Amino acid sequence: MDSPARPQEPQCILCGRCLEVCPLLAATGREELSPRAKLFTLRRLDEAPGTLSARSVEHLAGLCLSCGRCSRVCPQRLDVPAAVARARGRHPGFAAWAWKAWIGGADALWPGAARLGALLGPRGGPGSPARKLAAMVQAAPRALLRPEAFEPCPDAGKTVLFSGCLARTLRPAWAGKATALLRGLGCEPGPEPGWGCCGATLGHAGLAGARAEAVARNVAAWRAAGRPRVVTFCASCTHGLSAYAADPAAGLDAAEAAAWARAVTPLSRLLRTVRFSVAAPTGRVLYHAPCHAGADDPDRAWLTGLPGLEPDAGDGRDCCGLGGVMQLGAPGLSQAVAARLWQRRAAREGDLLLSGCSGCLTQLAATAPGGVAVAHWLDCIDIS
Ligand code: SF4
Ligand code: SF4
Repeated sequence: MDSPARPQEPQCILCGRCLEVCPLLAATGREELSPRAKLFTLRRLDEAPGTLSARSVEHLAGLCLSCGRCSRVCPQRLDVPAAVARARGRHPGFAAWAWKAWIGGADALWPGAARLGALLGPRGGPGSPARKLAAMVQAAPRALLRPEAFEPCPDAGKTVLFSGCLARTLRPAWAGKATALLRGLGCEPGPEPGWGCCGATLGHAGLAGARAEAVARNVAAWRAAGRPRVVTFCASCTHGLSAYAADPAAGLDAAEAAAWARAVTPLSRLLRTVRFSVAAPTGRVLYHAPCHAGADDPDRAWLTGLPGLEPDAGDGRDCCGLGGVMQLGAPGLSQAVAARLWQRRAAREGDLLLSGCSGCLTQLAATAPGGVAVAHWLDCIDIS
């Protein structure tokens, strides 16, 4: 149970910076959905529980994408998504239950959902249930990038992949390509230890217990594997795993926390020394920066630095609208945020949009305008 607001907690100074970056506010114009409005309401509820009905709090707590943009710009370091997650934890509703079952049952549920998606095809409008299912089907790869020369990785210690839930269940080709690239860099990855979900989306949904279990499982797997370097190719997994280093729930002492922080390594950071040949794309290549990649997005830095590719990376302010558990409770808002993204990117037939976040990719594939392809950048690497 969360403790009530304490006097020493930093206060909102009404600077308005969070208003400029909140994708939900931008897509709806509804001030009551803004970060500071949520913060005020949730703090008021901390001070005077019972002011709103449990159902109203559950509804309010559902209306956040947990993108973290507001907390990154807040000069007072106020963490709205954390406050939302605590409220969700206190008022778990059907959406949280369904999200826990969906994430926890990925191995059993997702392949069946993808088979159904293939059967139904991408029918209906953007974000329709059939299109969400169809988005789980692996799209045809695009051979755009071919590695030509590898510089041996200077830090070729023991290495394992953390593929993440989507790659493990539905995109095994991603792990295959990542393994081949690491091999080229001179670091043969060992078998993946018994990882589970990184836990980030469970935490955002207020499922603190499920997240704690995921964190404990992954830390135990890392220790059992000899504390190797952990290479990732999903921005949200990278974000979720990186958070362990500062999280007492992970049970890492100071030395282990520092080792963990060093260990988590985005694959794209290692690829900067690889020379790629680039096939001329048939249409525009766009890049979508996942919210959880933050300002120092290694995928963006690598992709935009590839001579001959240089995808249009936009201004990094767009959100796909997935929002984890939010899409279950407020699918209309989720769709509104996605629609704004596609409008801002002026996507048209023949465009290819690349990203490096499993969640963004499925949401973007489910909402893309006709003729716009969506792919992980690993889908575009030809390493056969
Ligand atoms: S986490 Fe994202 S969606 Fe939620 S209030 Fe902050 S900026 Fe808005
Ligand atoms: S950025 Fe922080 S201090 Fe500024 S208005 Fe938003 S919540 Fe308040």
